[in-house]
Amino acid sequence: MNATTNKSGYKWGCIIGSIPALPLLALFLLTLAMPLNGNGQERKFVVVIDPGHGGRDPGALGATSREKDVVLAVALKTGEYIRRYMDDIEVIFTREADVHVDLDRRAEIANSNRADLFISIHANGFQNRSVRGAETFILGPTRGEQNLELVMKENAVILLEEDYSTRYEGFDPKSPESYVIFTLMQNVYQKQSLEFAGLVQDQFRDRVNRSDRGVKQGGLLVLWMTTMPSVLIELGFISNPEEERFMNSEEGQVYLASAIFRAFRDYKNSIDKKSVVSVAPGETREEESEKDDIWFTVQIASTTSRVGLLSENFRGLDNLHEIVGEDRNRYTSGRFTSYQKAVAYRREVSKLFPDAFVTAVKNGRIIPLQEARERIIR
Ligand SMILES: [Zn+2]
Repeated sequence: MNATTNKSGYKWGCIIGSIPALPLLALFLLTLAMPLNGNGQERKFVVVIDPGHGGRDPGALGATSREKDVVLAVALKTGEYIRRYMDDIEVIFTREADVHVDLDRRAEIANSNRADLFISIHANGFQNRSVRGAETFILGPTRGEQNLELVMKENAVILLEEDYSTRYEGFDPKSPESYVIFTLMQNVYQKQSLEFAGLVQDQFRDRVNRSDRGVKQGGLLVLWMTTMPSVLIELGFISNPEEERFMNSEEGQVYLASAIFRAFRDYKNSIDKKSVVSVAPGETREEESEKDDIWFTVQIASTTSRVGLLSENFRGLDNLHEIVGEDRNRYTSGRFTSYQKAVAYRREVSKLFPDAFVTAVKNGRIIPLQEARERIIR
């Protein structure tokens, strides 16, 4: 391919001009957000992956295999793909071996690590061996008998735990009355959980050719106890001979894990795109008044709480901007219409914030650098 002979290649030629290609590539790789915590230290997006059951609790039983083993294999692969292909994500597992972990402990791992997303991975079992398909649950009231049966079965794992009735405040997983609480509660993370669940089902249906049972709501205790967007994925029915074979094959596990990985990547990208900019000083958010107002800036920090746009909070830097996002707020310094100037400024800034990187903003929202560079060079 000869980049200088087509129109877009010509445009690229203009901007690249004096900048060597390799640092540019490195910059592109750095454009994924590296959030900071309140103390100004790096805080990555945290995903907790929870392989269901384990140890003395085998979960649903197939003809030749057990739920606990299948879901562990798929969960570990999913985490491995995220670690391998996305460098701004911290992956935490609730278990990495065949051990028992109490249900409340699983939620506690996610809560204490201030996870941004909780993914519980399970497989179904049913008396009727012809029932098949993948489904993803978010927290909510359980509708339909078959769903209630499944939700009760998943919650029944607490019966294996000591002192469960005190720990789960008298919740009886086998009693339909216990489930009334889920019709009364409000799921504050419903929107985000629903978005991720939908992406998972899209992947299962379109890329893994699974029969799509859809996104459902259920009174699942483990989701109830977590304080972040959360889903419980049922990969398929271990009671169905074809699905049991698929879930136990290396190929099937790779497909299922890649599907969850791609859904996760799409979810993370969509969160990043929803960020909105506000400007110094203080609390007012910039309206999207200026059309196609594209500029470059240097991201220096990101937090889940808000930080005042004062130089002393950012190691003396000024010209600060706050980009308010759904999951966290990013902080940037500088405003440039020239990409090269932003790159030069980043070099300065990196003496104070070694992980600073150039980012692009269009009409108050972060956009991919490449898109900004193509739009601005006309
Ligand atoms: Zn299960």
